Amino acid sequence: MNIDNYLETIKFCRFCFMCRHLSAIGNVTFTEADTPRVRASMIYGATIHPELFANEDLIKTMYRSDLSGCCRRNCVNHYDEVGLTLAYRADLVEAGKAPEYIKTIATALMNSPEWSVSGKGKVAYVADNYSVESGAAAAFGKLAKEFRTVSGGSCGKGLWVLGFRKEAKLLAEKFLKALEGVETVVVSHTGIFDFLVNTIGEMGLKLDAKVMHTSEYLAGVKTARPLGDLYYLESDYLRNYNSDYPYPRALLTSNGANLKPFGTNDEESYSCAEGALLLDKIEPELVEKLAKYIEARADNPAKDVIVTASPYTRIQLGRFTSLKVKTIEELLAEAL
Ligand code: SF4
Repeated sequence: MNIDNYLETIKFCRFCFMCRHLSAIGNVTFTEADTPRVRASMIYGATIHPELFANEDLIKTMYRSDLSGCCRRNCVNHYDEVGLTLAYRADLVEAGKAPEYIKTIATALMNSPEWSVSGKGKVAYVADNYSVESGAAAAFGKLAKEFRTVSGGSCGKGLWVLGFRKEAKLLAEKFLKALEGVETVVVSHTGIFDFLVNTIGEMGLKLDAKVMHTSEYLAGVKTARPLGDLYYLESDYLRNYNSDYPYPRALLTSNGANLKPFGTNDEESYSCAEGALLLDKIEPELVEKLAKYIEARADNPAKDVIVTASPYTRIQLGRFTSLKVKTIEELLAEAL
C-alpha cells in the first residue's frame, strides 16, 4: 500500500501536536480531527483494524485536508503529513472505495477538453481555466511577448491529488504532448508549476523544458511607478512545496513594493486551501470559511492592496470576501 511509505510519519505525527495551529482547516472547523496528529492516529488505527480504512468519517476527514504543507515545512523533522494524506487517498481509490462525491469530481476531470495550442515561439504559457478566470492570463499577455498559448485542458494534478493516479498519468501524458518542442514553460497556476516540477517525476514522466512561474519569467519587468505598500499572501505550492521559491517577493520588491506582514505569523497558510487544489469542488463551504478567516486578519480590508501568486487564491478571496486582491500579473500590468 502507498501508506506503507509513510510509517515513520504515522509513528511520529500521531503523538505530536506541535503544528496544530498551522492546520488551516482545523483553524476554521475547530476540530482536532483536522490536524496531522489525528489524521495519522486514525490511519494508524486503520492499519490495525483494516475494516476502518474506508470508514466514512475517515474518508471525509482525509478529503477535506487543506494540504497546505505548512505543518510539514515547519515541523522540526519535516514529517510528510501531506504525502501521507495523498497516499491514503490513492490507496482508497485503488481499493475501489472512493466515495461518490469524489468520483463525480474525478470523472469531470477525466472528461476535460483536450489542450489546444495557439501562437508560436519557444516559450509556452499555460492558460488553464483558473489563470483565465482570475485575470492572470490576460495580464500576462500585456507583460510578455512572443509566446505560444496552451489552453483548455486538465494537466492531471487534480486527479493525482484526489488519488486517481493511473488516470492522472494519462492526462499528464496528453499535457506534456501539448508542450513538446518548447524550451520554457511559464505558468501562473501554482499547482501546475508544482505538477511540472515535482509530480510528473513521481509519475515516471519527464519534460525537457525549463519550468517557471510567471514571477520568475517576468523578472525583467519594470513598472512605471513604485508599487508601494502591499500585502503578499504566500503560495502553498511555491513556498511550502518548492523550497521557499523566492521570485514573487523578488519581483515585487524590485518594482518598489513595500511588503507588509499579513496576519498573525509568517508560517500559516492564507491561501483558501490552494494546496488542496479542489476543495472548492469538494467542500466549497470550507473554502468560504477559510476566506472569511483571511479577511478577518486584514489590517484595513477596504484599503489594503493584497497580492497573490496563486490564481486559485485570487478567485476564492474575490468570491467570498470584500478584500482588494490581485494576482502579481494583474498588479504589474496595471502599473506599466
Ligand atoms: S508534521 Fe511534525 S509537527 Fe506536525 S504532527 Fe507531525 S511530527 Fe508533529
